[in-house]
Amino acid sequence: MTELLDDVIAQTTDAIRAHELDRAHVFHSWSAQQLIDPMVVTRAEGAYLWDGQENKFLDFTSQLVFTNLGHQHPRIVRAIQDQAAKLCTIAPAFANDARSEAARLIASHTPGDLDHVFFTNGGADANEHAVRMARLHTGRHKVLSTYRSYHGGTQLAVNMTGDPRRWPSDHGSTGTVHFFGPFLYRSPFHATTEEDECQRALEHLEQVIAFEGPQTIAALILESIPGTAGIMIPPPGYLKGVRELCDRHGIVLIADEVMAGFGRTGTWFAIEHGDVVPDLLTFAKGVNSGYVPLGGVAISDAIYSTFAERAYPGGLTYSGHPLACAAAVATIRVMEEDGVVEHSARLGEEVYGPALRDLADKHEWIGDVRGIGSFWAIELVSDRQTREPLAPYGGSSPQMNAILAAAKGRGLLPFANFNRIHVVPPINIAESDARIGLSMLDDALADASFA
Ligand code: PLP
Repeated sequence: MTELLDDVIAQTTDAIRAHELDRAHVFHSWSAQQLIDPMVVTRAEGAYLWDGQENKFLDFTSQLVFTNLGHQHPRIVRAIQDQAAKLCTIAPAFANDARSEAARLIASHTPGDLDHVFFTNGGADANEHAVRMARLHTGRHKVLSTYRSYHGGTQLAVNMTGDPRRWPSDHGSTGTVHFFGPFLYRSPFHATTEEDECQRALEHLEQVIAFEGPQTIAALILESIPGTAGIMIPPPGYLKGVRELCDRHGIVLIADEVMAGFGRTGTWFAIEHGDVVPDLLTFAKGVNSGYVPLGGVAISDAIYSTFAERAYPGGLTYSGHPLACAAAVATIRVMEEDGVVEHSARLGEEVYGPALRDLADKHEWIGDVRGIGSFWAIELVSDRQTREPLAPYGGSSPQMNAILAAAKGRGLLPFANFNRIHVVPPINIAESDARIGLSMLDDALADASFA
């Protein structure tokens, strides 16, 4: 008993110290440094994590939507340990079994002929390299990307991003041009049906291409299902229409699958829902559940051949790091052997979809429910008719803060962005835990009762 008490006291003291040191020395991303109060996490397992006071939380965020197989998966941990004992690191110019096997497994699941893998450290650098490849392949310079998107925090990636995080770093001379993708709930084209939204979005894109000059456009990058910007499923036919426009004008199509890839949407890659093969596909996050940083670009035969006898001018010191690749091999094998992608799809159809639609019946301020697989969002509005969002653009409202505080108070960590709550738990979560989280969300919405 005394030992247990000693452990708890030691852990609390460690947590307090970690928090103090963090506030003194750690500079946090996307934050006003003195306005944040980061939670100290002392341990985590599966879909749960614990703070410094031993409070337990159900992690419905998968962190930044990357712990697809949850925390501390024993097979991934063991693979990293085994690889560390064997060979911790080796530069990209060498071949290594973990790297080769990771590339083979990734290529076996990407669609079409995307059989060659360039490894990066994460998603933003994967997108930067994909664009460089497209520019060198086509000899053109412009890149088209959608307004409602997030492509990463490095310079070009943030320029391609549509959301307001781009504004402070965008000097307008980067060769990136934005267009509107389809989003029926807040249609930029005033459409009222999915069919119309699709057609008008494609006509708009065709005009943008014509006015920008197709001969200047190297690539079009899009998230196959946009994530951070609101989990917006493209209407049937849209991705095929984009593929067709890219083909007609010799534009490289880059599918950003950094968030939506590796089972998140109930297929290996979200682009499969549109039955389209891109020229380049970027990935990160779910490839190894984020246990060691890893991202990459899967490359088609045609683009690969551009660099068959001409050097690709780019690389990263830690490209294809063995520890990260060993984690990827273990992750992909677990996904294959345990039917995790099918599980993710089933949860979407039988659990998240029905439960979130039930919540919308109960809570007046849920304006829209969207999603597929383990990738869902509820959009909160002050008025269902006008669809007035609960938060000002780019900000967060007192009501949103009240809901988040209520959820946390009940032991749920939800992913909030603008006026939305994204339901994005680990994709291998037990159905019972998924249902517990949804019921906590229900209670949190009732607790906040700001209507
Ligand atoms: N692309 C998409 C679709 C993302 O969601 C993200 C991150 O959330 C990125 C790129 C950037 O990835 P990273 O933060 O690993 O650079």
